[in-house]
Amino acid sequence: MELQTMTALELSKKIRQRQVKVADGVKEVFDQIEKKEGKVHAYLDLYKKDALARAKEVEKGIMDGTYTGPLAGVPIAVKDNICIKGKKTTCASKILENFVPQYNAEVIDRLEKAGMIVIGKTNMDEFAMGSTTETSAYGVTRNPWDLEHVPGGSSGGSCAAVAAGEAFMALGSDTGGSIRQPSSFCGVTGIKPTYGTVSRYGLVAYASSLDQIGPVGKDVADCAALLEVIAGHDPKDSTSLDRKDLDFSKSIEEKKLLGMKFGVPKEFLAKGLDPEVKDAFMETLKVLTSQGAIVEFFSVETMEYMIPAYYIIASAEASSNLERFDGVKYGYRAAEYEGLHDMYKKTRTEGFGEEVKRRIMLGSFVLSSGYYDAYYLKALRTKALIKQEFDRAFDKYDVILAPAAPYTAPKIGESLKDPLAMYLGDIYTVAVNLCGLPGITVPCGQDKAGMPIGIQMIGNCFGEHKILRAAAAYEAE
Ligand code: GLN
Repeated sequence: MELQTMTALELSKKIRQRQVKVADGVKEVFDQIEKKEGKVHAYLDLYKKDALARAKEVEKGIMDGTYTGPLAGVPIAVKDNICIKGKKTTCASKILENFVPQYNAEVIDRLEKAGMIVIGKTNMDEFAMGSTTETSAYGVTRNPWDLEHVPGGSSGGSCAAVAAGEAFMALGSDTGGSIRQPSSFCGVTGIKPTYGTVSRYGLVAYASSLDQIGPVGKDVADCAALLEVIAGHDPKDSTSLDRKDLDFSKSIEEKKLLGMKFGVPKEFLAKGLDPEVKDAFMETLKVLTSQGAIVEFFSVETMEYMIPAYYIIASAEASSNLERFDGVKYGYRAAEYEGLHDMYKKTRTEGFGEEVKRRIMLGSFVLSSGYYDAYYLKALRTKALIKQEFDRAFDKYDVILAPAAPYTAPKIGESLKDPLAMYLGDIYTVAVNLCGLPGITVPCGQDKAGMPIGIQMIGNCFGEHKILRAAAAYEAE
């Protein structure tokens, strides 16, 4: 079996059985990078020398029993908004072009404890704001399935890297769909965990009440195993949960759908959904029913409020979080200025891209004293209504099914022309973040042009086990 075709779990197993060297997995990944990266541009930084040195260490650690986990020896890519000590962390923004953190994000420590090898940092939309990876200050990432198309976003680099074989797995972050949507566009699997399951310590904040780090992988089992590695209570993150049910890999052992109840929001299939994506979605429903699942349609009345509530809350939090980038504490500072205020102004004008500025302005507006009640508070109330609707749905259903995006990957250059239209493309993913729910995207087909389509399975809070079981059973078909 060629290394390239192996999943991360298969690779690690071969390594632990001494049939493959840790360094071989790392070399394989860098061979693919050499071949494809010039076209795909999934990475912002690569650590070949460090990775090969670490491979030796891990090899020893596996021999002496330090690393016994199911992902020991696996090379992994990390989205560039996750801090790694001593490595540039840019968030794909000019304002952080030279920022080198003094500490590791909690998830990075956990990868290391699991004997995994970080191979580089992946491209993303600037500060994770966007749906195409085109707002990066360092150039776009291209979709490995067709280089004329975007990989989705904002974790487009992570998903493209896995799809291109330039990584066995990757970490992304999801604030409004940024793992699930690019996973759909790139034909890979990705999970947004229940809010609080994975520590946000060392994740550069976009919208703190919505952000979660999650796994991107070749299949459901890989993602479950990686989630198990990164999940767990962290006292350094005040929103971190102390969950006891973190044995995610176990939930997929039983690949059975019999008796599971799936709900499909009717409104999600109405206007705006590409017919080919709809066909693939309906086909998936058939497969699920043929395996003994019960599939029912139900109505969501809050659908039209999901995008506005999300963009108001996310932008409000972003405007507050991004205040810290002022030319004093971090990264870039304008070369010429007159006095403190001019320094702030020029630094931020030059350092942030257009989309980030748009969100900072929107966020500052909805938080300003005259408009706080009318917009921000109203958005919070709307969020509560959306949550109530999902609560009611989960009284009836184990899993809610939705497309991951209304269309397959658009062509490069098409989306940024009309940012508001691009925001609407997040319609199937944002409610999951507003409600703190877990969601997984698994590939479910291709359009006529051969571009991948994904289906999203959404669980109730702490419902990872159910969506993983459902996704694994569907994948097995
Ligand atoms: N596309 C959404 C946004 O731009 C989601 C981004 C994300 O999840 N980071 O806000």
